[in-house]
Amino acid sequence: MQTLPAYAQLTILGSTGSIGQNTLDVVARHPQRFGVYALTAATQVERMVQQCAQFRPVWAVMANEAAATALAEQLRAQRLSTRVAHGPQALCQVASAEPVDAVMAAIVGFAGMAPCLAAAESGKRLMLANKEALVVGGRWFMDAVARGGATLLPIDSEHSAVFQSLPDDATTWAERVEKIILTASGGPFRQRDPATLAAVTPAEAVAHPNWVMGQKISVDSATMMNKALEVIEAHHLFAIPPARIEVVIHPQSVVHSMVQYHDGSVVAQLGTPDMRVPIAYGLSWPQRMASGAAPLDFSALGSLTFESPDPQRFPCLPLAWQALAMPEGATAVLNAANEVAVAAFLQQRLSFTHIARVNRQTLDALTYQPPDSLEALQAIDARARELAQTWVTRLGSAR
Ligand code: NAD
Ligand code: MG
Repeated sequence: MQTLPAYAQLTILGSTGSIGQNTLDVVARHPQRFGVYALTAATQVERMVQQCAQFRPVWAVMANEAAATALAEQLRAQRLSTRVAHGPQALCQVASAEPVDAVMAAIVGFAGMAPCLAAAESGKRLMLANKEALVVGGRWFMDAVARGGATLLPIDSEHSAVFQSLPDDATTWAERVEKIILTASGGPFRQRDPATLAAVTPAEAVAHPNWVMGQKISVDSATMMNKALEVIEAHHLFAIPPARIEVVIHPQSVVHSMVQYHDGSVVAQLGTPDMRVPIAYGLSWPQRMASGAAPLDFSALGSLTFESPDPQRFPCLPLAWQALAMPEGATAVLNAANEVAVAAFLQQRLSFTHIARVNRQTLDALTYQPPDSLEALQAIDARARELAQTWVTRLGSAR
């Protein structure tokens, strides 16, 4: 685990998204500490032009040639010298380039896996928001981090909270920690009549009560699949057995997660629900720096409440423990099925309650060899997507 130089060069993967924009907000507060080497986005050209004008990166990478051409034209018109590239290989190059000290991994989904791996293998500080990469890669991904000598720091607010609540010496975690307790807001449907859930619309599902996030993670929060992915993420990050990871619903999103020790003590991290806090911690660790987040006002806070999640209402949540009990590779199957199901829900081809069915049925049915390479993971991901798609078609036509 290495500290950053006094002036560090950053690559921000997914800079136009929710995490990417929050990262640039924090970076802009510390111009004397951070320079931007590369920014990347799928197809949001206008926002990328603005970001290039403000942060003057050496490289901007877009997902496809059309977006890259449009960006290059606009940068030329504004006399900006940022160089433009596109495609997965360019993403891996800017994630592993020699001048880069730290990489913010904020692409959504399995699409972010290869550049995460490139950053891990080249020994960067890897600030991981892209939880799907770790869910898919599992132990194999953690091995790549160790082999590359990378410093992996969690950006997911729950995992940042756990990391902040653990002792510095990671070799003592297993012997001291009784339980990791992940908090969950319960999303927009925590109290909704379950009989009406089949009919909820994408707009209702993405309207999260406490956080403003990208569409995919917002739907995952509504199904609590997000928490299932986070249980898997916590298992790999902190090497804690699945049976010692617990989820509790905490609708106020003030306690971001907790660690319970063998003596009965519970250590928690609290704060306003603002992703700039874990982002600033990832950038400044082992120090701290200003994030722009408002401090907690305890006199205005009122009560903090906790309840256990109802598996009938949130059938995606138990899939985490089911997948972790299966051979390596099952979590990649679960992630792929969920990406397909969420995309279909957002396109109104699948009902909200069928997301859990697609995920469970794909997990139950697919057989595979435990993966030992990126290619093997890509093959499992592709086959799981195909099978999930057939369930989407069947369930969609049965609506
Ligand atoms: P988002 O949809 O707002 O942004 C995603 C970014 O990735 C965008 O810049 C987009 O252009 C880029 N992108 C999408 N598909 C791509 C592709 N195929 N190739 C290249 N680039 C692509 O998502 P977000 O909410 O910022 O989430 C990003 C990641 O962080 C997710 O893995 C999410 O689970 C995680 N995360 C987000 C939050 C949050 O508060 N938003 C909190 C915790 C974890
Ligand atoms: Mg989270």
